[in-house]
This record gives sequence, C-alpha cells and structure tokens, in this order.
Amino acid sequence: MELVSAKECCGCRTCVAVCPMQAISVVKDKYGFEQIEINQEKCINCGKCQVVCPILNTVKNKEHYTCGSAYAVSENARRHGSSGGLFGTFAKKVLEDGGVIYGAAFDKYLKLRTTRAVNEAELIPLYKSKYLLCDTGNSFAEIKADLDAGKHVLYCSSPCRVAGLRRFLGKDYENLLLVDFACHGVGSQDLFDKSVQYIEKKKGIAIKKFSFRHKPKNASSRYYYCYSFGRKGKKHGKSDLYLTFPYYHAYCKSLAYRECCYQCPYADGDRAGDITIGDFHSIGKYEPDADRFNISMFVCNTEKGQNFFETVKDSLKVMSYEWETIRYNNRFCGGEDMPAVRKPFMDMISSGQFEKAVKKYLNPYKNWRILYYHLPKWIREFGRKVLGGE
Ligand SMILES: Cc1cc2nc3c(=O)[nH]c(=O)nc-3n(C[C@H](O)[C@H](O)[C@H](O)COP(=O)(O)OP(=O)(O)OC[C@H]3O[C@@H](n4cnc5c(N)ncnc54)[C@H](O)[C@@H]3O)c2cc1C
Repeated sequence: MELVSAKECCGCRTCVAVCPMQAISVVKDKYGFEQIEINQEKCINCGKCQVVCPILNTVKNKEHYTCGSAYAVSENARRHGSSGGLFGTFAKKVLEDGGVIYGAAFDKYLKLRTTRAVNEAELIPLYKSKYLLCDTGNSFAEIKADLDAGKHVLYCSSPCRVAGLRRFLGKDYENLLLVDFACHGVGSQDLFDKSVQYIEKKKGIAIKKFSFRHKPKNASSRYYYCYSFGRKGKKHGKSDLYLTFPYYHAYCKSLAYRECCYQCPYADGDRAGDITIGDFHSIGKYEPDADRFNISMFVCNTEKGQNFFETVKDSLKVMSYEWETIRYNNRFCGGEDMPAVRKPFMDMISSGQFEKAVKKYLNPYKNWRILYYHLPKWIREFGRKVLGGE
C-alpha cells in the first residue's frame, strides 16, 4: 500500500488510527519531523488508510454564513486566549451544556497532545496556540466513543486534523462541533524540544511549563512566550519576545514548518470546521483604535456553526465584515513560500549543530525588530500609522 509522500503528509495519524493490522507507525525523519511508515509485511492492502487520509481526500465546507471580528466580553477569557478568547468562550458554553472539549495541551514532559477536558480547570491547558505538531494519539477513537454515548463534543484543531477526524468518523454527528483555525503551519516536537534544552543549558534551569502567545502588560508584539522553572525550591517565571526562543523565532521566520504546510491544501477560504477562528491581523485598517492583540476573526461555515455562534453572542463583542474582507486575512490565500535558507538551517540542526544554527539564522540581535519592539509605544504607534503593517 502506498500513502501520501513525506512531502505531503500532514502528520495527523488518521491512517494510524484506522489500520486494522497496526501496520502503520510514526517515525522521525532526518529533520525530526514525524512521518508515517507502513510495514508492508503486515499490510493487507485494505485501503482504509487511503480513504481516511485528509490530504488524498480533502473535506471542506463551501459556504460562509456570518463572519467578522469578535472578542470575549470577559477580560479573563481574552487574557487566556491567543487573541480574542473565542475558543474559550465556545468551550465554556459546551461545558455548561454538559459536553466535553478536545484541544491541544502540553503534558508534564512538554509533549503536545490532543487532550480531553470536562471542566473549566481541565480546560486551561488547552487555551492558546502552540505552534508545533500535536500528537492526536488515540483521541479520534475517544471522540467517537463520546459522540456515540450522546455527549456534545467540541473539537478545535488545525484544518487538516479537523478534516482527518471527519474522515475517521465517516459521517456527520449532530452533537459534534468542529472549530478549525487559520493556520500558518506547524513545526516538529523535536525542534521545540531542542530549543527548550538550549535555554535550559544556557540558563542552568529545568523548564516546567511553556506558553506561546503570552500577553504581558504593554506588549509590543503579539508574539511573546513565557515559561516557569524551579530554582532553590522556589517557582520562577520568565517571559520574553519570540526572537529569544529559537523555536518561536524559527517559526515566525517560516523556517520551522513541516514541508506539507508550505503547500497546504487547507490554506484557503473553504474550511473544514463548522467555525473558523484566527487572529485579525489587519484590524487596524478598519478599526484604528481596536485593541489589536485581543481581537479574533471568525467565520461560520455551516448552519450548525452559525446556530452555535448565536448561542454565545451575548458573551462576545461582534462586528460583522464582508466575506471578501475576511478572506484576505493571511491563511485563506494559499500556503507560505518556503524560505531558501530553510534547508541549510535544517541541515545544520540535523548534523548536530543546533547552537551554530541559532547563531547563524536566529540571532535576535541581528534582527531589526528587536530594536523596534523596545521603542517607546508612542514611536511604534506613530511608525505603524505612517508605514502601515502590524
Ligand atoms: C499552529 C497554529 C498556526 C496558526 N496560524 C494562524 C495564522 O496564520 N493566522 C491566524 O489568523 N491565526 C492563526 N492561528 C490561530 C491563532 O493563533 C489563535 O488560535 C486564534 O486567533 C484563536 O484565538 P482564541 O483566543 O480564540 O483561542 P485560543 O485560546 O488561542 O485557542 C486555540 C485553540 O487551538 C488549539 N490548538 C493550539 N495549538 C494547536 C496545535 N498545535 N494543534 C492543534 N490544535 C491546537 C487549542 O487547544 C485551542 O483549542 C494559528 C494557531 C495555531 C495553533
């Protein structure tokens, strides 16, 4: 049996989940990306893996109901979210109605896994974007069991994974709400781990928790991170700009994505989920005084998504926009170009020269942005108004 090539595979593991012979396993390629491997001796050529593959058979909704900008009325919900806190608002509603939530959370070893939450305390680790590949593990089977037991389920993930789940289930469930997000791409757990180890070694600490999209007061960018660590029996925290954490810096320079993400078949306006959420990067063009780091973009792609959205509207501040305006938000218009330096960067890392690669390609002090982000707010705001951009 042949499946998608390593270049096309999105790493969703739907094929692994359906194989009746457990003939498909996940292995790391030379760059540390998770790839599937078929054991041809165990394979019985049943073709199930091909049928469920969301890359070989894309699944998308063709309609758009309402769309626009939105943010949670609750300041707490906005603080927990990457942008406007839409995911948290949706999830709380589903929990209130007795449902369960599946999203991405780091485990205690900082491995990103699809994780189930049944109450607000369990929901907290699911908030916020984590810019690496999420291990779906056994979650598709768990979601199916919850659905078959009549539970309401909210699954939020990248469009390729949402499509993978739809392929896995093979039919629509009235009690399933699918939320995807506008997606740049994902990098590997391996590169993230190496970056954590790099910081640990440099600072002589052991990182316990990590968060992308941290929101410090007076943030000058939407891309901060924070982590916590223990020292002398006390808990400490540190936050900084993405430029100083190699993985985040490589991600924001488009160096870290899986190969398939550069030609993603889901990076367009036809979406896999009932609702799509994302950052509203260009909100400043339309609402100059908007709190641009705390506003999301949303699109209701199905009647089910639209009906659900109506039920949470009182918890949100919503502004409607034309579909064409939303459509030109970044990830609806094709994948990102692969930078020419990605290969030499990845080659250097795979040959064991992580620190050299960081020095050469990710030195924060060679990046003009670090100066910009440290300018007083009024100068940045003035520059932004005159020159445009974020
Ligand atoms: C890898 C990635 C790339 C993104 N690229 C873009 C982009 O190009 N343009 C854009 O407008 N927005 C992008 N986003 C979405 C954006 O970062 C916010 O998630 C979005 O604005 C919603 O914010 P929120 O406050 O409503 O929800 P949040 O609280 O941020 O909720 C995010 C949801 O996504 C889930 N999630 C987080 N990381 C992963 C992951 N690695 N795999 C699967 N599920 C995950 C979380 O569990 C949660 O359910 C991306 C998100 C991710 C994870």
